[in-house]
Amino acid sequence: MLWKTIWDGEPTVQSITKINSIRDRLYCNVQKGDECWIWKGTVVRGRGKIIIEGRQLYVHRVSWELANGESIPEGMRIVQSCKNLVCVNPEHLLPRKHGDLINMIVMEDKWPKAKLTVVKVVQIRERLKFKTQRQIAKEEGLNVATIGRIKRRESWKEI
Ligand SMILES: [Zn+2]
Repeated sequence: MLWKTIWDGEPTVQSITKINSIRDRLYCNVQKGDECWIWKGTVVRGRGKIIIEGRQLYVHRVSWELANGESIPEGMRIVQSCKNLVCVNPEHLLPRKHGDLINMIVMEDKWPKAKLTVVKVVQIRERLKFKTQRQIAKEEGLNVATIGRIKRRESWKEI
């Protein structure tokens, strides 16, 4: 949304300057930890907000757009895989459809003690885009077969 209004078409000196100033304003209000980047500015109902071009926007959505250089696809929400609602670390921000989000919550209620959590499965699927099944299996201490089943959606197909 933000991206579309500011940077519509070819980038210009003006639009680049604008994007850079938004980036500065956002990240100077962030405390960067090893994992999460915590928003220290205004929080409304648990979510970080920032005013840009006279509009109140969610900081995690702005952070995703700054990191990805594009607008959030229509109908998608940005979910923190770390479940920290004030985290703006782009690595923790995943675009999800509304229905997926409800599935995630329902599934966690169903199997609270499962070895793999919904969040973990979502993260594994994201990492499968640029890592091999074997690498991820090693990092997670899981079977390669388990990762394969997640990849082929033979298990955790609801997510
Ligand atoms: Zn986080």
